[in-house]
Amino acid sequence: MRVSVFGATGSIGESTFDLLRRRDDIETVALTGGRNVTRLAEQARSLRATLAVTAHDDCYAALKDALSGSGIEVAAGTQALIDAAERPTDWVMSAIVGAAGLAPGFRALAQGATLALANKESLVTAGPLLMAEAARHSARILPVDSEHSAVFQALIGEDITAVERVIITASGGPFRDWSKDQLAKATLAQAQKHPNWDMGQRITIDSATLFNKALELIETREYFGFEPAQIEAVIHPQSIIHALVGFRDGALMAHLGAPDMRHAIGYALNWPERRDLPVARLDLAQLGQLSFQAPDPDRFPALRLAREVMELRGHSGAVFNAAKEVALDEFIAGRIGFLDMAQLVERTIDSLLSETCLTRPVVSLETVVAMDQMARKTAGRHAAVMV
Ligand code: NAD
Ligand code: MG
Repeated sequence: MRVSVFGATGSIGESTFDLLRRRDDIETVALTGGRNVTRLAEQARSLRATLAVTAHDDCYAALKDALSGSGIEVAAGTQALIDAAERPTDWVMSAIVGAAGLAPGFRALAQGATLALANKESLVTAGPLLMAEAARHSARILPVDSEHSAVFQALIGEDITAVERVIITASGGPFRDWSKDQLAKATLAQAQKHPNWDMGQRITIDSATLFNKALELIETREYFGFEPAQIEAVIHPQSIIHALVGFRDGALMAHLGAPDMRHAIGYALNWPERRDLPVARLDLAQLGQLSFQAPDPDRFPALRLAREVMELRGHSGAVFNAAKEVALDEFIAGRIGFLDMAQLVERTIDSLLSETCLTRPVVSLETVVAMDQMARKTAGRHAAVMV
């Protein structure tokens, strides 16, 4: 099997690398990364990749240098990422963070590759387009988000019309029990520490605001096609149950596992088979108990905004995600507070509600990019007056 990994140097990328380096039956075609060219070069040498690509033009020389004498091809820039996605491959990991992950994944589908999708932003911004592209090329999208991999697994052999509801779990993040006053003062350092999962900086902060869960509610709708009213999120601080599927006879099928992304990645890599994976096995007696609580929409408005997007559909997901990315940048830069992030996203959606294309169905990447840019500008304007 030939594989490529987009975003190889990130958290998901490293977990994917860890699984690939244990296999001698896999040929690595392309690995891509950002500014960490030293690590990208190490990975490329270790897996004997054909091609290594940095997203940044100004990192080309450093990557070329780091790979000199290896025979590994080197490229840089946004177009090079697209070209890499067009290299014949059987399985592609989409693990770039943010809207930048959409185009390479889209191109990978066009050549019929199986797309292991960690980049949830792809489904949030362009779900119908991505699913249609997969169908057109008889390509498969396999969810890598732990909750969606769990739902996928709970649905094996089931009649999807017998599904009543889907429940995805959320750890609740580091601020699960904080009051609104405390949240207003939450710092970047506090928001960057996740209680259970070791992830990239951006998704970790998104877990503290519950924007990550908001994206995942939308992702559930777009991937599986359930109605918004069928999709719920519940706080489950231990992150042991990843999702549950409820059927019309009242049965709930849950997926349990240690919080380790190598399970969902490995499942997608081995699908439709199951193979040994180097993940911890659960000791239920030692865990003792699992607990659950309802999320508080007042302290975590991201979930309410996700509901609005699930109803609006069209390009509202692109607006929601772009505004969220701007809000995150502003918070990381220390220009806005923790609670301002949701405010900024809400104001951006409200400002663009009258745009006719907001609810128009997504039929091309171009309109998604245009809406994304319009939302970033609008969010930037709102942010400027919030500072
Ligand atoms: P990360 O920040 O650790 O890594 C991101 C990777 O993308 C890096 O290789 C980086 O160099 C690259 N990258 C960043 N910006 C880029 C750009 N503009 N163009 C090209 N490459 C770029 O992120 P992560 O935590 O690994 O998350 C990756 C994706 O997987 C996200 O969409 C995230 O929501 C999703 N996800 C992550 C986890 C997790 O446990 N980390 C779980 C579920 C889903
Ligand atoms: Mg998840």
